[in-house]
Amino acid sequence: MSRETKKFEAEVTEILNLMINSLYSHKEIFLRELISNAADALEKLRFEEISHKEWKTTDEEKHIRLEADKEKNILSIKDNGIGMTAEEVMENIGTIARSGTKEFMKQVSEAKENPELIGQFGVGFYSVFMVAEKVVVHTQKAGTDQGTWWESTGAGEYSIESVPRGDGHGTTITIHLKKGDDEASQDNYAETHTLKSLIKKYSDFIEFPIKMLVEEEEPEQDKDGKAIEGKFKKITKDETLNSRKALWLKPANDISKEQYNEFYKHIASDWTDPQDVIHYKAEGTQEFATIMYIPSSVPFDYNYRGSKHGLSLYVRRVFIMANCEELLPPYFRFVKGIIDSDDLSLNVSREILQQDKQIQAIKKALTNRLLKYFKTKLEKEREEYETFWGRFGATVKEGISTDFANKEKLQDLCLFRSSHSEKLTTLKEYIGRMPDGQKEIYYITGESLSQVQESPYLEKLHQKGYEILFLTDPVDDWVMQGLTKYDDKMLRSVTKEGLELDSEEEKEKIKKETEEKTKDLKPLIDTIQEALSEKIKEVKISNRLVDSPVCLVSGAYDPSAHMERMMESLGQSMPQSKRILEINSQHPVFTKMTAMSKDNTKVWAEIIYNQALLNEGSPIKNPLQFSKQISNLMLEVPT
Ligand code: ADP
Repeated sequence: MSRETKKFEAEVTEILNLMINSLYSHKEIFLRELISNAADALEKLRFEEISHKEWKTTDEEKHIRLEADKEKNILSIKDNGIGMTAEEVMENIGTIARSGTKEFMKQVSEAKENPELIGQFGVGFYSVFMVAEKVVVHTQKAGTDQGTWWESTGAGEYSIESVPRGDGHGTTITIHLKKGDDEASQDNYAETHTLKSLIKKYSDFIEFPIKMLVEEEEPEQDKDGKAIEGKFKKITKDETLNSRKALWLKPANDISKEQYNEFYKHIASDWTDPQDVIHYKAEGTQEFATIMYIPSSVPFDYNYRGSKHGLSLYVRRVFIMANCEELLPPYFRFVKGIIDSDDLSLNVSREILQQDKQIQAIKKALTNRLLKYFKTKLEKEREEYETFWGRFGATVKEGISTDFANKEKLQDLCLFRSSHSEKLTTLKEYIGRMPDGQKEIYYITGESLSQVQESPYLEKLHQKGYEILFLTDPVDDWVMQGLTKYDDKMLRSVTKEGLELDSEEEKEKIKKETEEKTKDLKPLIDTIQEALSEKIKEVKISNRLVDSPVCLVSGAYDPSAHMERMMESLGQSMPQSKRILEINSQHPVFTKMTAMSKDNTKVWAEIIYNQALLNEGSPIKNPLQFSKQISNLMLEVPT
C-alpha cells in the first residue's frame, strides 16, 4: 500500500478532543494503556501460535521494551506480540469499535462531566494524544511479511502505508512527546526514573517483562578489582522494570488497595476504582485462584445485547480467553475479574466450555462464594450493600426466575422499596413488621415510585395498616413470577384478582353487604358491563378501594397491566387480556349513576373506565373523546 491519508471517524475526533481537554490531569495513564495493549498483543500471540504452527514467529522471549531519547523527546513502546494488518490498524485505530449508535454519542457527551467514563469506550490508545505531538505505529501481523506504518498528530486525520518492519511481527509505538509545560517535573516521559516509577505504579503485575536499557554509574575498579574512590564509569544495563508476579497468586495481605485497583483497570476497561474485591484460592476438588471485582459504576453498554461480560480465564498462569461467560451465572454478569485454574486443559475452547464438567464445578464454586459474600455484605455493611444494590440489584434479581437451586439465597439478598419508609427492606424485615391478621406479602409493580405510591389499589391496604412493596424495575413482573412464596407467606400483587384483605368475620359481613349492594346496583352493573363489554371481562364490587371510584384488576394468571405496557414499549405487543372493572360501591358517583338515563350511564361508564386506565398509568385509547366527555360534564355544572 502506498501512502494514503485518511480522516478519523467523527466520533474519534470527538473522543480525542474530550481526552485532551478533560483528562489533562490524568495524562500519565497513557503509558498504562499502551502497556496493557502490548501485553494483550503478546497474550494473543501466545494463544494463536498454538493453532498456527505455520507462523514463523521469533524465538525471542515475549516482552515489551521501552526506549527513551531525552534529547529528541521521544518515547517508544515496542512489543513482539501478534501485531496488526493494515486493515486491522484502520479498524482499531481510527474508528471506534463499539460506535455508531446514538446511545454511544449520548454517553460521550455525558462523559464530558465524568471523564472517568471515557475508559469504558475502549479508547485506551487515543490517550496517547494527551502527551504526543505525533504518534507513529509501526506494526506487522504475525504470519505475514507486510509491515504497516501509521502516523498521526491526532488532528482529524492519519496517514497509512506499507513499510517493512525489520523486527518482524509486533508493534512499535513511537511517541513524539509534547514539550512539557514543566519539563523538570516528573511528567517528562522520556526520563528513565519517571518511566520506572510509572511502570511500578500501573503495570507491575504484567506477566511479560517490560525491559529498558538503563544507564547507571558504577565505581571504577583498579586492577585488583577494588573500587576507586570518587571515580565512576557509565554502564548500560538491560533492566526489567516490573516484578511480573501474577497478582492473584500473591497472598492478599501482600497486596495494596492501589495494586488491586490498578489490576482491575487493566482487565476491566474501566477507569474508576471498583467498589470491592474478592480474592481467594480454592483448594480441594477444584484448585484455582480468583480475583473478582464488584464495579462501582454501571458500564454504559451494560444492557445491550452483545455487551461483553464474564471473567478472564487462565490455566496455570497462561491466558486462555477474556469474557468467559460460562464461569458465572448471567445474574452475576456485572462481576469482573480473572480466574486461574490448575486443573483445566490448556486446549479448553469456547465450544466445549458449556459441557465441561470442571467449568461447571468452578461456576458453582464461584457462585456460592459470591452468594456468601453478598449475604455477609448485607448483614454487616448494609449501607455499602444498598449502594451496590442500586447499581446491580435488578440483575441479581433475575436469578430468582432462572436459578432454581439458589432461589432461596437470592430471595434473601433482595432489597425493595416499600410503603413502610424511605429505607430499603428485605423480605425478612417485611415479615417482621407484619401486623396480626396480615397473612400475605403485598406488592405492586409499575414504572415509577411516584406512580405506584399514589395508586388507588393501595387504599384499603393503607387503611388496614399493611405494608406494600413497590417494584419499579422493568424485570420485576418477570421476577415475581418466580417469587410466589417467601417463608410460607404468599406474595400477592395488589393489582390482580383474588386479593383478600379481610378476616373471616369481616368477609361474612362484607359478603352480606355486597350481596345487597349487588342487588341494588345490579341494573347499573349490567349497564356498565354492556357499555364496556368489548373492553372488560366483568364488573365487580371492589373491596380494595376506599376513595377512588374504580380500578382495573388483572386475572390472577394474566400479565399485569405494567407488564403489558412494558412489552408494548419493547415492540412486542401481546394479546391484551380483558380485565375486571372493580367499582367502589361506597362512592357517591354510583348513587348518582343509578338515577341516570341509560344513555348517560353509558357515557359515564366510559369516563370511569378511562379514569381507571389513567390511574394505573396506562394510556387511554381515545383521549380526544375522553376530553370532550369531560368538557361536556363541565358544562353541566351550574354556575
Ligand atoms: P482496547 O484496548 O480497549 O480495545 P485501544 O484503543 O487501546 O482499545 O486499542 C484498540 C485495538 O487496537 C486493540 O483492541 C487491539 O486490537 C489493537 N491494538 C492496540 N495496540 C496494539 C498492539 N500493541 N499490538 C496489537 N494490537 C494492538
